[in-house]
Amino acid sequence: MSETLAIYGGTPAVDSSKVVNWPPIDEIDEKMVMDALHQRTQSRGIHNLEFEKEFAAWNGNQYALFTNSGTAALHMCLVGCGVGAGDHVLVTAYSWSSSATCILHHDAIPIFVDINPETFLMDPDKIEAAITPRTKAIIVVQLHGLCDDMDKINAIAKKHNLKVIEDACQAHGALYKGHKAGTLGDCAAFSFNQNKCLCCGEGGMFVTNDKDIYDAAAKLWSFGETARPEQNRDYHAYALGWMYRNNEITAAYGRAQLSKYDYYFKTLRGNGEYLLENLKGTPNLLLPYEPEWATHNWYNFNLRIDFDKLGITDPQEQVKFRNAVAAALKDEGTGASVWQRFTLPEMTVFRAKNAYGHGYPWSIPGADEGVDYSLEKFPNALAYSRKYISLVKTLRAPNGLDIAEQVRDGIVKVFSNLDQIDPERINAIVEARKKKK
Ligand SMILES: *Cc1c(COP(=O)(O)O)cnc(C)c1O
Repeated sequence: MSETLAIYGGTPAVDSSKVVNWPPIDEIDEKMVMDALHQRTQSRGIHNLEFEKEFAAWNGNQYALFTNSGTAALHMCLVGCGVGAGDHVLVTAYSWSSSATCILHHDAIPIFVDINPETFLMDPDKIEAAITPRTKAIIVVQLHGLCDDMDKINAIAKKHNLKVIEDACQAHGALYKGHKAGTLGDCAAFSFNQNKCLCCGEGGMFVTNDKDIYDAAAKLWSFGETARPEQNRDYHAYALGWMYRNNEITAAYGRAQLSKYDYYFKTLRGNGEYLLENLKGTPNLLLPYEPEWATHNWYNFNLRIDFDKLGITDPQEQVKFRNAVAAALKDEGTGASVWQRFTLPEMTVFRAKNAYGHGYPWSIPGADEGVDYSLEKFPNALAYSRKYISLVKTLRAPNGLDIAEQVRDGIVKVFSNLDQIDPERINAIVEARKKKK
């Protein structure tokens, strides 16, 4: 079956006029936001306090603090866990940059661990070899909305007396053996930016069940103070702090979205399961999988090109071909894109071993001992970064199975016609469009 791909002028597989943009907004959002706008208090009022309570109750955490980003919540996790200058913190080799730069901001050193090639998550079997005498914590990124094998990781952490921080920024509602992401370690960070399954424009949530971790994190969150802004403050800096709070209007929007989350989750699960089932057998396409321990939230439904089968071995050729396939999929209306193109150890801030200038924090005496960012150590992360394509927002509510079916058709169309993929030609088309803009 040969069809003209949309990128070459054919008809797109997806009727984009039927796809609703993320996030869907209704009268609940409007009412909540207008309420916040008109109340006297616009910071640390009822919406902040209720959002924290509601999120904690929904997720199963004792404590929650609403922040202005997921990255801020990650910083709070590090200080909550007592990570300090010269400590080592383990983190996956493939994630968003702030999963690892949050470590540098606390003057500590990221130690990367390669991913498992099937889950794309930190490989628990490679953790112990990465532990050094300075290691204090492990940041487990529940990437794409899939939880890592937490029993294994928590057992290693216990044996070596390490704290476990969850980067749950993509994992709202994802489960590990029936337990929610954000309840699986010592503390966790969620993000509510617009890409995430739960969003409020920009924002995040720090969660924990540990009072001491909570108190330390709370100081960092608001100027090093110990009293919440809604309490009697003494305006005394008890520790180093930032201003990581968020406002009432954003909190009200977050509460409105949270009230609809169970429907969002079900819809996305349904679409993910549909694709998983109905893309089976597509030529040269590797599908994600759900390990027996996990309930994926399908934040990101990943497609991988089977380069072994295609016989494309050169890394640069792989990247060119992948980018062309992603552009073709995008033009079919699937919403496909390429997310993080680099592994973390490839990023300049780590390669240069310089964050705060003068080589700091690696220049702390002894801190650089046993630190090795040689790329040969991360073959799975590198291979993954070259062959994956992500599907993110198109599969979200209210887009249901009718859209998922069209997305499936678009994917099958492109992967059944890979002989039409001409990276040079597609690159020229994409570049010409950019110039027109
Ligand atoms: C989005 C994201 C973050 C950062 O969240 P922000 O709210 O954008 O600061 C951190 N880690 C991961 C894995 C993310 O996807």
